[in-house]
Amino acid sequence: MAAAPARTAIVVGAGIGGLAAAGALARTGWRVTLLERADRLRTAPIALLLWPGGVRALQVLGLSAGLAAIATEVPDAGLRRPDGQWLVQPRAASSPTPLLVHAEDLHDALVAGLGDRVDMRTGVSARLARTGDSTLPAVTDGHSTWEADLVVAADGADSALRAAVAPATAAVAAGATTWQAVIPWYRAPELPPDLAGPVVTQAGGYRFRTAALGERSSSGTSGRGGIYWAATGPGAPRPEPAATQLELLRRWFTGWHPPIETLLAATEPDDVVQRELRELRPPPERLAAPVGDGVTVLLGDAGHAVAEHLGQGACLAVEDAATLVSAVHSATPGRSLHAAAATYQRARRARADEVRRHARRLGATGPLAGLNRVQARRRERAAATAAAWHPPA
Ligand SMILES: Cc1cc2nc3c(=O)[nH]c(=O)nc-3n(C[C@H](O)[C@H](O)[C@H](O)COP(=O)(O)OP(=O)(O)OC[C@H]3O[C@@H](n4cnc5c(N)ncnc54)[C@H](O)[C@@H]3O)c2cc1C
Repeated sequence: MAAAPARTAIVVGAGIGGLAAAGALARTGWRVTLLERADRLRTAPIALLLWPGGVRALQVLGLSAGLAAIATEVPDAGLRRPDGQWLVQPRAASSPTPLLVHAEDLHDALVAGLGDRVDMRTGVSARLARTGDSTLPAVTDGHSTWEADLVVAADGADSALRAAVAPATAAVAAGATTWQAVIPWYRAPELPPDLAGPVVTQAGGYRFRTAALGERSSSGTSGRGGIYWAATGPGAPRPEPAATQLELLRRWFTGWHPPIETLLAATEPDDVVQRELRELRPPPERLAAPVGDGVTVLLGDAGHAVAEHLGQGACLAVEDAATLVSAVHSATPGRSLHAAAATYQRARRARADEVRRHARRLGATGPLAGLNRVQARRRERAAATAAAWHPPA
């Protein structure tokens, strides 16, 4: 008997979500084409927190083998005021704690996970192709058109493909901007042990977070050790050059407790990455839409960008990938694939709604009275939610 033709998938966007999905679909027998707008695969030189849900997703996708070598465990930092006083004491060691990885290390691991079975095209800005009475979803860059059983829109918060599934949704500014940097180990300030631990400090709409990625040799094979920090302030991104932005940050955080000023002083303009916090409004009602016998699904920020207050979007993207690959594992085009996409949608909408609720609560500034108690509860619940995800059976 002739073998059934391979099922085909097009993944648009080679961010964390797209890379994870493309590699895992290829490893489970799909013929995958990955389309990326940039001329080469790359990510920003920042660090990412990986919460237990995201780590489990990487495990089930078979991508966790090298994680121990590139990740550092981050104990809870509690929450402080700029003068160093505790608003919330660090939680006990038994509470869920995230890992910290350099985004380039995670990116490299995901690219390695593509193997040689993914047809990779860079410099391709994909958009929806006019489907007419087509029996499968299709995308185009204006020159070529690609058609497949499964189209995965992993093209980020400004997704060009989202209109096929959630046309009313757009990415909007959440009212704050974050600056991040990794100070490489060779020029990181040497901090006394009592200042070397992770920090989260906030006042009004300003927040500073730092954690160590570790020394080159102590983070295994990674050459990307150092000290990571992220500073958040209200308002839109700054148009000035990075050196001026860094000066502004140094002014904003003057007088904040050690080692915040020391870290900002040791940072060079080229280390700094500015990103606006954005979220999807209204949240997509659907994450999947059938087209003929095929289906288009939203994955990662394309389906649920949330303003980052805990740092979880990349974890959600890999959870999406693990859920999708599990749902479509034995599906064939037609009803079976539509049912698999509905399963994916049900699971991921519920998860994204839950995380969005927590992100909103963490971002909201309550009345000062009771801030400690309220913040502590919100943070504990958000961390528990980040940790709660388990892969589908
Ligand atoms: C300040 C900040 C801090 C964060 N910290 C954390 C953290 O600690 N932990 C965590 O889990 N998450 C964190 N996140 C969230 C995380 O960075 C994102 O949620 C995650 O990167 C989303 O991945 P993605 O693959 O869905 O999208 P993206 O990373 O946006 O990737 C989309 C890809 O699609 C490509 N693309 C776009 N349009 C097209 C097109 N038309 N055709 C082809 N390709 C296209 C882009 O070039 C890009 O490569 C943070 C986010 C911010 C803003």
